[in-house]
Amino acid sequence: MSEEKIYAVDPAFAANAHIDAEKYAAMYEQSVNEPEAFWGEQGKRLDWFKPYTKVKNTTFDPHNVSIKWFEDGTLNASYNCLDRHLETRGDQVAIIWEGDDPSEDQKITYRDLHERVCRFANVLKAQGVEKGDVVTLYLPMIPEAAVAMLACARIGAVHSIVFGGFSPEALAARIEGANSKLVVTSNYSLRGGKAVPLKANVDKALTHAGAKKSCEKVIVVKRVDKETEWDDARDVWYDEAVAAASTDCPVEEMEAEAPLFILYTSGSTGAPKGLKHTTGGYMVYASMSHEYVFDYHDGDIYWCTADVGWVTGHSYIVYGPLANGATTLMFEGVPSYPDNSRFGRVIEKHKVNQFYTAPTAIRALMQQGEDVLGDSDLSTLKLLGSVGEPINPEAWEWYNRVIGKGKCPIVDTWWQTETGGIMIVPLPGATAAKPGSASMPFFGVQPALVDNEGNEIEGAAEGNLVIKDSWPGQSRSIWGDHERFTNTYFSSFKGYYTTGDGARRDADGYYWITGRVDDVINVSGHRMGTAEVESALVAHEAVAEAAVVGYPHDLKGQGIYVYVTLQAGFEPTDELMKELRNWVRSEIGPIASPDLIQFAPGMPKTRSGKIMRRILRKIAEDDFGALGDTSTLADPSVVDELIEHRMNRK
Ligand code: ATP
Ligand code: MG
Repeated sequence: MSEEKIYAVDPAFAANAHIDAEKYAAMYEQSVNEPEAFWGEQGKRLDWFKPYTKVKNTTFDPHNVSIKWFEDGTLNASYNCLDRHLETRGDQVAIIWEGDDPSEDQKITYRDLHERVCRFANVLKAQGVEKGDVVTLYLPMIPEAAVAMLACARIGAVHSIVFGGFSPEALAARIEGANSKLVVTSNYSLRGGKAVPLKANVDKALTHAGAKKSCEKVIVVKRVDKETEWDDARDVWYDEAVAAASTDCPVEEMEAEAPLFILYTSGSTGAPKGLKHTTGGYMVYASMSHEYVFDYHDGDIYWCTADVGWVTGHSYIVYGPLANGATTLMFEGVPSYPDNSRFGRVIEKHKVNQFYTAPTAIRALMQQGEDVLGDSDLSTLKLLGSVGEPINPEAWEWYNRVIGKGKCPIVDTWWQTETGGIMIVPLPGATAAKPGSASMPFFGVQPALVDNEGNEIEGAAEGNLVIKDSWPGQSRSIWGDHERFTNTYFSSFKGYYTTGDGARRDADGYYWITGRVDDVINVSGHRMGTAEVESALVAHEAVAEAAVVGYPHDLKGQGIYVYVTLQAGFEPTDELMKELRNWVRSEIGPIASPDLIQFAPGMPKTRSGKIMRRILRKIAEDDFGALGDTSTLADPSVVDELIEHRMNRK
């Protein structure tokens, strides 16, 4: 194994941080030993109409999974993100919007945002949306997306965001699944200079009987000045409707456990799950984790590059930052437009202090070389974050060196759509970082490792990552299917929340996510996570990206099948294949030596940028007839290419 590095906490950073090592230890202990007292206090970071008297009422018993936090309190998420800030920070910028085209941007103050949200909330009401109704948002990264989310929350409607890259079929299924009354979309979206016809996708989705039956109205933002098909009886222009609407819209008083939104998982491991998140606990957790994990201080400019179509966009572009009165940057474009220096240009232009992105984006930048961000001034950066997949140590070092200039702590944040907020993370003022490790639990989170029989394993060990008790941000159910919720998360290991991920805990108590449990490879009786082998490969200079899966092997049980995307400038040769095999042997050991290596120009990824190993496994098994749910696959043509050049033919 390559030597493990440790980056100590910078004492100067810790001195100004919300949480230092001492505070972390004391608060963590209280959070798990006295959750009522701890969360009862933390709940006060929100404004409640009716204060709660009960804090926690939860059980993971598979016969009766029930999760309630702050259950007798009432509040409103939109009020907490807007109204309560008006007096003190009405003129402060809430959202910096950076358009796809670098010459387009907007600065929206809390007062402006409040007014826009009130107007649109009144539009929704006028279109017949009532408390408890589901509204589907199918929007690009434009301010109207945040406005629509907060407008729904304001009137007690439940939003269900469908990422703008999804097909009409995927959209139709989600509209029908949520029995959604209304869709908000834009005529086109703009990404990398190209106009994508979103409204046409909605039109197509609404030809599906189920979607058509539930959806009555479509509100359309005019993003691009282009012809748009129109149904007078159903379609409403956003601009016209808000212009006529009042700016006065009182907030609805919501129970803590009233649903705030439905959101589907990425579909990396199977059919996406539509998770239900509620108001009180989710907002407390999003607000607290945003402040502490990113060490957000008043006046900081914070940028999370996720799309609002994913949970990261919900918790860490909109709800967490706005609840905290932060300035949050929303980016419409892509890192490669107009050229690969875009991230750097945006950091410089808006003087970004905290930057939060995904390993897939970091690896894509890495492929372009050390000077990819050109001469952009990155000196305002104080902290970097990563989310979505394990970050390979090699990518971590690059992120630290090239973007962070060696002076920014990196928070590798492990969490899931289901968890609502960050669960395992090195708090920047408290926890020394080990590249590739998400490290330590956040407040109130009790991770554990269990073997396949459900026995808890202590000390340094590897196993199934589970969580022992509830935390406020946790999803309450799968929308309309509590049984699937119970079966998926609470029945494999009784009494625990099952994450579906594997992890290793080292002697210092740090957690290392090894990959999806379903992806674990068993070679001659040795269990191996995908992350470790992939990280070893990415550490080779020729490798830009790697994905590792198992396939049936007569002698070993499972063989190791590796897909490799090369860095620009490297050729796929037999020589290189041999070299990579030797490389893995020396980095990890002979047991991890790849049996088959396929050079792959592209990987099958979800639309959120994660590798779908289950598809790669099928191809490796030479059994690609039924690939399962591929509705969230970003580029299906990649799959055909991989099948054509597969290395294992039975
Ligand atoms: P599906 O549940 O439909 O298969 P998904 O799990 O990809 O999709 P998300 O909820 O978006 O959907 O992703 C959560 C998963 O992403 C985690 O379970 C984990 O596997 C991975 N992940 C997220 N952040 C990290 C991280 N910092 N380190 C390692 N893995 C991470
Ligand atoms: Mg998942």
